[in-house]
Amino acid sequence: MHEMGVTQEVLNAVVEASAKAGATRINAVRLTVGELTALVPDSLMFAWECLTPGTPAEGAVLEINATPGRSMCLACGTEFDHDQFDRRCTACGGPQTEVIGGNELRVDNVDVDVPDEAPDEE
Ligand SMILES: [Zn+2]
Repeated sequence: MHEMGVTQEVLNAVVEASAKAGATRINAVRLTVGELTALVPDSLMFAWECLTPGTPAEGAVLEINATPGRSMCLACGTEFDHDQFDRRCTACGGPQTEVIGGNELRVDNVDVDVPDEAPDEE
């Protein structure tokens, strides 16, 4: 399952960043996942449940903000949202389009617990 590898990478990055920030525990992680990545949010959730036990992210909530694919028509300049299967222009039906969004996979926010006595390294 593709999602398992992707989730492992996200988890590694989040754990590493949290450790650098002096966090002892990760409470929640918010991800933005574009439709064109072909990643299935439910599968990401499942992978998260499988991979987080035994890590600082154990029990952390994974929130997924799914964004649609977005393209611009090269013929008429219309920008439109679409799924990963049909990318034709919604205005003129033209097949010549350029993807401008929906390929993103990024961590938007990580909610962590940082002990009070930890030094503040800004
Ligand atoms: Zn068009």
